[in-house]
Amino acid sequence: MSIYWNDRVKKLDPYVPGEHPRNKNIIKLNTNENPYPPSPAVVEAIQRALAGDQLRLYPDPASLVLREAVAERYGVNPDQVFAGNGSDEVLAFSFGTFFNSDTASPVLFPDITYTFYQIYAGLWNVPFRTIPLGDDFSITGGDYLLPSGGVIFPNPNAPTGRAQSFEEVVKIVAFQNKRDRVVIVDEAYTAFGARSVVPLIREYPNLLTIHTLSKMGSLAGLRVGFAIGNEELIKGLCRIRDSFNSYPLDRLAQAGAAAALKDSSYYEGITQKIIATRERTAAAFSALGFTVIPSQTNFLFVSPPRKTGDGVSRGAAFFAALRERGILVRYFDKPRITDFVRISIGTDEDMAVLLKVCGELVSGTDA
Ligand SMILES: *Cc1c(COP(=O)(O)O)cnc(C)c1O
Repeated sequence: MSIYWNDRVKKLDPYVPGEHPRNKNIIKLNTNENPYPPSPAVVEAIQRALAGDQLRLYPDPASLVLREAVAERYGVNPDQVFAGNGSDEVLAFSFGTFFNSDTASPVLFPDITYTFYQIYAGLWNVPFRTIPLGDDFSITGGDYLLPSGGVIFPNPNAPTGRAQSFEEVVKIVAFQNKRDRVVIVDEAYTAFGARSVVPLIREYPNLLTIHTLSKMGSLAGLRVGFAIGNEELIKGLCRIRDSFNSYPLDRLAQAGAAAALKDSSYYEGITQKIIATRERTAAAFSALGFTVIPSQTNFLFVSPPRKTGDGVSRGAAFFAALRERGILVRYFDKPRITDFVRISIGTDEDMAVLLKVCGELVSGTDA
């Protein structure tokens, strides 16, 4: 704490991102980055955007070329698309645009979910109520059929990896639509196996979907996210953006992201590879005696069969044992999930090393 901080800053509880080590020999499976490079068309588009003196000029504040590429890819129109500096920014703007500070109507989200929702609620002074996941970490749509200030969840959920059925999501959206409450579905991982609800934005003006190119687009380093929804929702997001930063996306990000969205065949290829690796890895973990939550994402949420360290939770001990052996995964020190770690799907070579080390750890042959 500093005497110079205002009361708002003193009350914040900021997000702590996964580690980004400088050591290149580490196998980095802790932030769900895509193990494959982005489409070559992305690099070419960025090089074209660099040519001449274009960086002297401000970028298009409306990111129109990028929004047209999103519209084309998802079968919507550009007025139904909002682009931002990573989907985290789009999510932050969404909390500021759609959720009120009325304590009688808290926003609903799962007890185990993307940590940033709670942080944005704090930033914008939005009251919230968490809804417990089932014992198998599934979301039950019926639990969200309550009067609320709005609803937000990822589908598939993170960090569990579990997807909810399309029908369950629709139930929530339809119920909250009757009460004029916005439902935000964070589709960060939908490309890896869940069914998108984007086609429902015409039927449900209260539905906003959030997307990122960080995971499926292999562009975590470019910082591009977007939202799709009814025109009124998009205009609201623009009002917040233009009260904050009119140019959240630079020229290189706009050009690269548009090129990525146009190369769907490349991305379909690497997505299928990741899914195949995920399924093989999940089966191998099960065979080693791990608890494996069924995943429709580019990561696995697993719990080792026995403790690999003393005095700490099973997840923390497993995390530390892997880290010592040069493999970084993600551990969340939170109720209900202290036995688990989240492991991003890497290349087949990364997974082979991971599984070998995990086999040694559980059989105790490692020391
Ligand atoms: C990674 C992630 C994001 C953030 O994506 P960026 O576009 O990199 O900011 C948002 N939501 C969920 C559920 C995520 O896992």
